Amino acid sequence: MTKLALQIKAQMENVKDLRPSTDDYILMVKTKCISCREEHPRLVGIKPGSELEMTKQGARGTTDLVMKCQFCKRESSAKFEEPTPKTPWWRPYSMSEDGVAEWQTLCVVDARGMDLVGWEAEGTWACTASESGTKFEEVEFDDGTEWTDYDEKGEVPVSIMELEGRWVRA
Ligand SMILES: [Zn+2]
Repeated sequence: MTKLALQIKAQMENVKDLRPSTDDYILMVKTKCISCREEHPRLVGIKPGSELEMTKQGARGTTDLVMKCQFCKRESSAKFEEPTPKTPWWRPYSMSEDGVAEWQTLCVVDARGMDLVGWEAEGTWACTASESGTKFEEVEFDDGTEWTDYDEKGEVPVSIMELEGRWVRA
């Protein structure tokens, strides 16, 4: 089992606390089989709390993603780390006080038999305007990397640019 963290960073203007809009957000990831080292050709979705049964003999408990490698036929699985009050499934991202975009962990996944090698920011995200506290609940990224809007109450433009992510060992 390998514990992998998805870290993200972005240039954010007048917004903070970026995270997927709901807990049951489906994260789209690129996987690689650790037996034959082949990458799965398409992105696959993994959702916290899916409670899928593992079919492999001897495997216990439930998981959030089960796959069979189309090349070597081995089964692999991945599961989000159980949330705690301090570390929810999705940890909100904010830039540092002095406005620097730094890598921060968004979520942690236990991977068995697979490596996670990519991701895409699909679906709906949420963030909060730092001036007025206005919540933006329908953030969708153009090209998976950019979002712009206007904070009416704070009378400032808001944006998220250069969103990127990477998987690291947690
Ligand atoms: Zn394989």
